[in-house]
Amino acid sequence: SEADDVEALLDALDRIGERLHDEQAYLTELDSRIGDADHGNNLARGISAVTEKRDDLAGMALNEAVKTVGTTLISEVGGAAGPLYGGSIMSAAQELDGGLDDETALAFAEAYREKLTERGGARPGDKTMVDAVTPAVHTFQRAVEEDDLALVDALAKAVDAARRGVAYTVPLRASKGRASYLGLRAVGHRDPGATSTLFVLEELLATAEA
Ligand code: ADP
Ligand code: MG
Ligand code: MG
Repeated sequence: SEADDVEALLDALDRIGERLHDEQAYLTELDSRIGDADHGNNLARGISAVTEKRDDLAGMALNEAVKTVGTTLISEVGGAAGPLYGGSIMSAAQELDGGLDDETALAFAEAYREKLTERGGARPGDKTMVDAVTPAVHTFQRAVEEDDLALVDALAKAVDAARRGVAYTVPLRASKGRASYLGLRAVGHRDPGATSTLFVLEELLATAEA
């Protein structure tokens, strides 16, 4: 039922909150190498603001709750990542009308990817969060639509694809965001936003497996 979906969302947000706080220093350290050393702090602040709204979210429909997560991230995270994460979540939330099933999950994933690339203008290979999101979403789509896997198994494959996407950012120069000012000096470092995207997906998977 949709009440169970909202319960699962709250569980996911708790896990993501814990993970982003655990990884706050690491993500900020990654951003200190190729950015301005704030990515972990930005996300930790944002997810805290989201989990503070737990009681409000519990009374909402799934699409409304996810939309509120997005708007909260937009207003709290700031920088490049706030509007990218928050705006994409906010806009993709409408696909979850009626609750979570194969169809709405696929539509949400595709809308998230589309909004993110539309807003940020980054393409795969630009050394951004798009390098985790794009392979994850494409793998998720193939796993559900072609291989007929259950959502949780498709998500497990998507997480593996995101992990490879993060590794793929290491040897790249950046073409978007602050890291693009570094030229060759960005080479050898993983992208902070791709890395945080992987952590979020890992916690969504942990929620689905629980
Ligand atoms: P800021 O760079 O404003 O300090 P953050 O440090 O929170 O913001 O986020 C940096 C991350 O944002 C980068 O690691 C990258 O993944 C992502 N990013 C930056 N610009 C773009 C863009 N145009 N498209 C997609 N992702 C981007
Ligand atoms: Mg930064
Ligand atoms: Mg910043």
